Amino acid sequence: MTKTTSTTAIGNFREDTIAAISTSLGPSGIGIVRLSGPDAFSIVHRLFQPAENKPFSPAQYRRLRYGWIVENGERIDEVLVSCMPGPHTYTAEDVAEINTHGGAISVKRVLACVLRCGARLADAGEFTRRAFLNGRIDLAQAEAVMDIIDAKTEQAQTQALQQLSGELSSEINALKESMLHLLSHVEYAINFMEDAQEELPTKPMLEEAEAILQRMDALLQDANSGRLIREGIATVIAGRPNVGKSSLLNALLRRERAIVTDIPGTTRDAIEESYILDGVCLRLIDTAGIRDTEDTVESIGVTISRSQVAQADLILAMLDGSRPFSKDEESFLQEVADKPVIILLNKQDLPLSPSMQSARDRWQDEKPDIPWIALSAKEKTGLDRLKDAILERIFHGAAPKQPAMLSNMRHIDRLTKAKEALEEARRALASGVVLDALEVDLRDSYNRLADITGERAGEDVLDRIFHDFCVGK
Ligand code: GDP
Repeated sequence: MTKTTSTTAIGNFREDTIAAISTSLGPSGIGIVRLSGPDAFSIVHRLFQPAENKPFSPAQYRRLRYGWIVENGERIDEVLVSCMPGPHTYTAEDVAEINTHGGAISVKRVLACVLRCGARLADAGEFTRRAFLNGRIDLAQAEAVMDIIDAKTEQAQTQALQQLSGELSSEINALKESMLHLLSHVEYAINFMEDAQEELPTKPMLEEAEAILQRMDALLQDANSGRLIREGIATVIAGRPNVGKSSLLNALLRRERAIVTDIPGTTRDAIEESYILDGVCLRLIDTAGIRDTEDTVESIGVTISRSQVAQADLILAMLDGSRPFSKDEESFLQEVADKPVIILLNKQDLPLSPSMQSARDRWQDEKPDIPWIALSAKEKTGLDRLKDAILERIFHGAAPKQPAMLSNMRHIDRLTKAKEALEEARRALASGVVLDALEVDLRDSYNRLADITGERAGEDVLDRIFHDFCVGK
């Protein structure tokens, strides 16, 4: 299947030369200014003064050359440069890289020289976008590049690397091939058969559809784990003021990030911190401080917004075991009971209040699937039990060690829709429905798959995807 090579890219991607700083600007050993496009080499040639007096010729391509960037007779920095002719480069165009000294000044000065020589400052993600538009990688692979950069854990990076190497893409391409095969039967029947309905090889087609559906199911099965590895587990710590939410955050992170006080409501901002548990990133959100927002879950009084509950992958509902169990806590627990929730009975270093004890007994009786974990955020006891409970609740045990094929919400959504359309087609096929309707469903399913690899991606889709990239990638 051919990938799009439309000229709908930003600017004239085949004609102009882009440049950007591809490393971060903090103190570091080296910085890299990268150029891509037809003038990449001539720009470097104008600015670079080699230490050895060898000509700047194709024989020197793909070699690191040592020298200086010089503008109007002034040495701007001591550098190493490399010129890599397309198409075997990151963008599939001519690419040059200038290694400067690290820190902000050298790279910025060299970039300024490059821009004065006619390069255009690259947009966010434009190098990767060109790699896509030039057909070197597909859209799923381009998205994997960003996932590698954004990865907070080794697992997330491994998973993304697998996608970059094309494993997901070849699965999707195989599904597309099978889908085209199904479609070809329908189209042949529509175009060439007199009694099209009769002529359709229904049985083998149903078998093929079934086989595709099974492969889709297998991909979707570990997609949620894949997503959680990629994005981290959005974990909301909810509870009334003063139950110990900030203390728990600090106990897990082992530092005083949230201000802990015994005056209710003193934590002003919702705080998000990353905590790595068994190689998986927990994105811990302390909800204290959002008490003024309107969209709060009223039953708990103050400290959590409905959208946070809705978006959470995990809710840690915290109670103060030393205090009486309140009515609003009961209704909050009822509200979140169907979601992935763990109830934390904090302050286990203090005596357990009788009403809390009976609430726990009743809940454990009525909803045995919801774990109750006794702990003390202050004394840091019960934390291991909490960590085990989180892994159990989210991954039914330990975090998966094998990377998932699917992890990006966009891909999961498209594959789910492709599957739904194919299920519709299977029903139609089995009940002998009009061929045109069958064709529409099969084509719809195919198109959803093609969205994953970006076969038909328009500029709006690309803008949305590459918008989140950093400049220089
Ligand atoms: P938040 O409002 O829910 O974030 O609660 P904080 O973390 O600010 O804690 C409120 C008060 O409870 C502070 O004085 C904490 O020291 C205290 N606290 C928190 N956890 C525990 C605990 O496990 N045991 C005891 N005895 N006190 C705790």
